[in-house]
Amino acid sequence: MRRTLRNMAAATVMLGLAGCATAPETGRSQLIIFPESQDAQMGLEAYQQIKSEMKEANDPALERRIETVGGRIAAISPHPDWQWEFTLFQDDTPNAFALPGGKVGVNTGLFKVAKTDDQLAAVMGHEVAHAIARHGAERMSSGMLTQLGLVGLGIATQDQTTVGLAAAAATLGVTLPHSREQESEADHIGLLYMARAGYDPRGAIQLWKNMEAAGGDQPLEFLSTHPSHGNRIARLEEWMPEALAEYRGT
Ligand SMILES: [Zn+2]
Repeated sequence: MRRTLRNMAAATVMLGLAGCATAPETGRSQLIIFPESQDAQMGLEAYQQIKSEMKEANDPALERRIETVGGRIAAISPHPDWQWEFTLFQDDTPNAFALPGGKVGVNTGLFKVAKTDDQLAAVMGHEVAHAIARHGAERMSSGMLTQLGLVGLGIATQDQTTVGLAAAAATLGVTLPHSREQESEADHIGLLYMARAGYDPRGAIQLWKNMEAAGGDQPLEFLSTHPSHGNRIARLEEWMPEALAEYRGT
């Protein structure tokens, strides 16, 4: 019983420390228990892990394109100071991903659907938005809080299965899939960022049409569950006037 109380106290302390962050552009409230200063380290570790498991591409022209387009978008983001890194991986799946602190991976297969720089900017904007909005840290925070709840419950009931579940929850890392809400938010923020960086936001709609035409039910991101293409395009159309105003203002 005493231990349960101690656990609950620890959870309360963590919740107390948890700042209520606010996502950029959308103003959505976020529960994030990690300080922003920790994002860079978390992201770097995951990036090194992924680099050791995947094959980096050797295509200087494509590498330069993702660095140029990604770099321009990162430069107009609220954190041009982060150690942004854009890596091209040799993989036919049209995929990309972002890690906390500004590490972004792009597969060579993405160029089957991202045919112009505006279309590529839609992907880079989306990934930069995930990092800036701290979606990885937000996901890990909910994982940790769930785990604390399970640990408290497990000790209270002396239930080893529950303790085991808690341990499994602890392994949830930065590579967890984004939630649908985060995906939609990254689409929205990304659309504004690409426009602000001088890319035509209508490229985002064309990208999703190309994805659809490629027969792709392929997810854009590793392990990701995504809104359907049609749904996604409808939301992008809603935000388009705002993004076009930004684009025409550049
Ligand atoms: Zn995403």
